[in-house]
Amino acid sequence: MSTSDPAGTPRPGHALLIRDLLHRVRAWAPGRTIQYRDRVTLTYAEWLGRTARLGAWLGRLGVRPGDRVGVLDWDSHRVLEMFFAVPCVGATLHTVNVKLTPEQVGYTIRHARDTVLFVHADFLPLVAGLRGFLGGVRHVVVLADGPWEAPEGFPVAGEYEEGLGSTEPLASWPDLDEDATATLFYTTGTTGEPKGVSFTHRQIVLHTLAAGMALAVHDEPMALRSSDVYMPLTPMFHVHAWGVPYIAVTLGLAQVYPGKYEPAMLLTLIERHRVTFSHCVPTLLLMLLRHPSSGAVDWRRLKLVIGGAALLPAVAREAMGRGICIVGGYGMSETCPIVAVSHIRPGLMGEGGEAGDAVDVITRTGFPLPLVQARVVDDAGRELPPGGEGVGELVLRCPWLTAGYVDDPAASERLWKDGWLHTGDGARMDADGYIRITDRIKDVIKVGGEWISSLEIEDVLARHPSVAEAAVIGVPDAKWDEHPRAEVVLRPGLPAPTPRDLLRHLHAAVDAGALHQRALLTEVAVVESIPRTSVGKIDKKRMRAALSGSVVLA
Ligand code: AMP
Repeated sequence: MSTSDPAGTPRPGHALLIRDLLHRVRAWAPGRTIQYRDRVTLTYAEWLGRTARLGAWLGRLGVRPGDRVGVLDWDSHRVLEMFFAVPCVGATLHTVNVKLTPEQVGYTIRHARDTVLFVHADFLPLVAGLRGFLGGVRHVVVLADGPWEAPEGFPVAGEYEEGLGSTEPLASWPDLDEDATATLFYTTGTTGEPKGVSFTHRQIVLHTLAAGMALAVHDEPMALRSSDVYMPLTPMFHVHAWGVPYIAVTLGLAQVYPGKYEPAMLLTLIERHRVTFSHCVPTLLLMLLRHPSSGAVDWRRLKLVIGGAALLPAVAREAMGRGICIVGGYGMSETCPIVAVSHIRPGLMGEGGEAGDAVDVITRTGFPLPLVQARVVDDAGRELPPGGEGVGELVLRCPWLTAGYVDDPAASERLWKDGWLHTGDGARMDADGYIRITDRIKDVIKVGGEWISSLEIEDVLARHPSVAEAAVIGVPDAKWDEHPRAEVVLRPGLPAPTPRDLLRHLHAAVDAGALHQRALLTEVAVVESIPRTSVGKIDKKRMRAALSGSVVLA
């Protein structure tokens, strides 16, 4: 960082700081609103005032540069205030993943060394239950939507609205090092305890500018517009809701924060506030589309970035059939997260173009964002030529990738082997420049020496009219090493196919050349539900553990 030139003369305004994302909206959209559920409506002018009060109050609570401040809340205007105020006073915001087990929540708060916790009343019992393990926490502040009560013998430092109400706004945000850590959250990997992933001011500002630019500049299939109404559908504790709240504030979009994700409430908010822009994992999209109240929503005004897991063509077609304009996004916790979006490159479709239709392009994983270098490499780290059939690991470089896992040098070294961030995703780079994730490397199924993508089998199954959802894992097989096992949830109210019918459906796809021959070895099980991770994705780790009888901690 360099807030001064070589002679030591300060260069004010030079560093890339989150506080500077706030300048424009002050004049551009002071009257636009930030809505919280059906409870609170704030203008940007009011929200900016509250954020400045929070900055001052943090000081009164003893928060100093370098301290870590944890928040356990649903998606709210308050968390948006913390997205800015906490890093802008030089502290680090730890967005605690409230969907982890209580032990893991305690672990992450301890590991992060949080000194102040902002806790929604819903999570007070959880935090009170952990009190013996949270030695470093000096203050707990309550976030409440109504009457609340502190658990017996559990001291709280105050309530959020009272604290803001009794504090004068901070006159100005301090100068900081752009490499100061701004945010921190934990990701659950395949093994071990959750890992801390952090981002600096510089990284968040650059991600905001590059992702905002990419989302806004391409017309096909959709563009983010200043007139959009934004509501997150991926939780704010997970990679800053993909960083879109930072983009929305920078551009002064009208925003809606939905609180706890309750499907009926989400649908009501989308319709009532005429939400036009959001993002989510495919499983949440399907849950909303198939909800009994889904018919009350006019989906045609909605633009949706689908990411966090593969956007299968069957899912894309279902959403588009309802009138939603969708595009695919790719990233991971460690990448801030957006690194690629499946915009439709000019000339790709239509006469002379490679692509059959829009679904063919938007279900490619994505085209790298400005500043992103993406390569597919083999086991020896050699780049596989774009356009080839070979599958390797996707590796990345760009200015907003995490430097490593907090206090975990060994895992950080594996992440950054050879100077590239290793995603753990199997991929091909196509001749048109799009990244195509074929499968998470650990999810690829090795059947008699042939590698089969679990995603391809899932997509074929999802196209069966009676299938609501399908997930495929590899299970040990004495003859073939592994064979695929598909767990399938059926749609209620439709004729129920037997596993044998579903196998016939796979057979037809093999005959049509859409699926590898060895996919015929798939064992199909009809199940009530498929396990989910804390951020709503299909949890293949849990599926494997259920079969082997082992216990999953994450
Ligand atoms: P997380 O760190 O929990 O956000 O998970 C990141 C992982 O989700 C990536 O490494 C991929 O395996 C998967 N993922 C994210 N976006 C996509 C996508 N568009 N297509 C396929 N897989 C994806």
